[in-house]
Amino acid sequence: MFHKRVLVTGGAGFIGSHLCKRLLNEGCEVVCLDNYFTGNKTNILPLMNNPLFEAVRHDIIYPYNAEVDEIYNFACPASPVHYQYNPIQTVKVSVMGAINVLESAKLTGAKVLQASTSEVYGDPHVHPQPESYWGNVNPIGLRSCYDEGKRCAETLFMDYHRQSDVAIKIIRIFNTYGPNMHPNDGRVVSNFIVQALRGEDITVYGSGEQTRSFQYVDDLVEGIVKMMASRSSFIGPVNLGNPVEFTILELAEKVLSLTSSKSRIRFKPLPSDDPTQRKPCVDLAKKELDWEPKVSLEDGLKETIAYFKNLLNL
Ligand code: NAD
Ligand code: UDP
Repeated sequence: MFHKRVLVTGGAGFIGSHLCKRLLNEGCEVVCLDNYFTGNKTNILPLMNNPLFEAVRHDIIYPYNAEVDEIYNFACPASPVHYQYNPIQTVKVSVMGAINVLESAKLTGAKVLQASTSEVYGDPHVHPQPESYWGNVNPIGLRSCYDEGKRCAETLFMDYHRQSDVAIKIIRIFNTYGPNMHPNDGRVVSNFIVQALRGEDITVYGSGEQTRSFQYVDDLVEGIVKMMASRSSFIGPVNLGNPVEFTILELAEKVLSLTSSKSRIRFKPLPSDDPTQRKPCVDLAKKELDWEPKVSLEDGLKETIAYFKNLLNL
C-alpha cells in the first residue's frame, strides 16, 4: 500500500506531536525529528507502537536528508522563556534549520511548510493584522532572536521558491494552546492553568491590558493540513489564528472561574518589547482554505485544564 511519507521537525513538541498524530491517522508514514530541547518523549509515546511512526533524535541546525514527500518545519523553541535561554541557538534553529529543510526539499522534490509566527508582525501598528502588513519588529531586543529568525526563515523560503523552484507553504501561527504543552513551558495559558490548579498566585505581567487571540490546537492542525493540501500556486503566507481577542486579565479571570481556584492575581513587571495587542485577520485562510477556527476559548480551556489535572495528578 502507498503511504505518503512526511517529515515533522519539532515533532515531539506541543504542536508537532498533535500534527504527527493527525498525519498518522490520515495514513501517512511519519518521521518525527527532534532534539528534545523543549519537546519530550511522553508527547509521542502514544504514537511509538504505530509501525508508520519513527522518531529521530537530531538537531536541525545540522543537515538532515530524508526521502519524504512533505516536510513540516516546526523545530524551534516557541516560548519566550525558552527561546531567550540561548538566543544564538534560536537564530540558528530558525535560519540554519530553514536552510537545511529547504536544501533537503531541493534535493528530493519534497513540498515544505514553514511554521512561521504572528511575531513577524512584532508590536503591530495595524490591527487586526493582515498578511500584507510588514510588521513593527525591534531588530536588537530580547525577542529579536525569535522574531527576526522567523522573518529570515520566511525570506529563505521565498528565495528558495523563486530561485530554486522549491514547493513551499508558509503559515503564520497566532498564540496556540492545548494539551501536550509542557507545565514549565512558560507561556501564558499553561502558566495560568498550572498556577490555578496548584493554588499559586496567577502571574500577570504588566497591567494585563495587553491582548492576545488564543487558538485551540485542533483548529490549528486542521488549518495546517488544509494549507499543505492547497493548490500549488497558493504558497502564503497565511495567518492561522482565532480572531477573538482577550486581554490577559480576562484570560486570568476565565482560568480562575473554570478551575474554581482560590489563587490570587499577582502583577509582575512587563517583559521588554511585549506586544500590546495581537489579533489575526483570517480572511485569506477563509477564502483559500475554507478554514476558520471553531473551538471557543472556554471549550479549549476546559480540555487543557483536564489535561494538566491529569498530568499533575491534581
Ligand atoms: P514547542 O517548544 O513545544 O515545540 C518545539 C519543538 O522543536 C520541541 O519539540 C523542541 O524540542 C524542538 N526543537 C527545538 N530546537 C530544535 C532543534 N535545534 N532541532 C530539532 N528540534 C528542535 O513549541 P510549539 O508551540 O509546539 O511550536 C512549534 C512551532 O510552531 C515552532 O516553530 C513555533 O515557532 C511555531 N509557533 C508556535 C506558536 C504557538 O502559539 N504555539 C505560535 C507561532 C508559531
Ligand atoms: N504573560 C503573563 N503571565 C505569564 C506569562 C505571560 O501575563 O505568566 C503575558 C505576556 O507578558 C504576554 C502574554 O501573556 O503579554 C502572552 O505571553 P506568551 O509568552 O504566552 O506569548 P507571546 O508573548 O509570545 O505572545
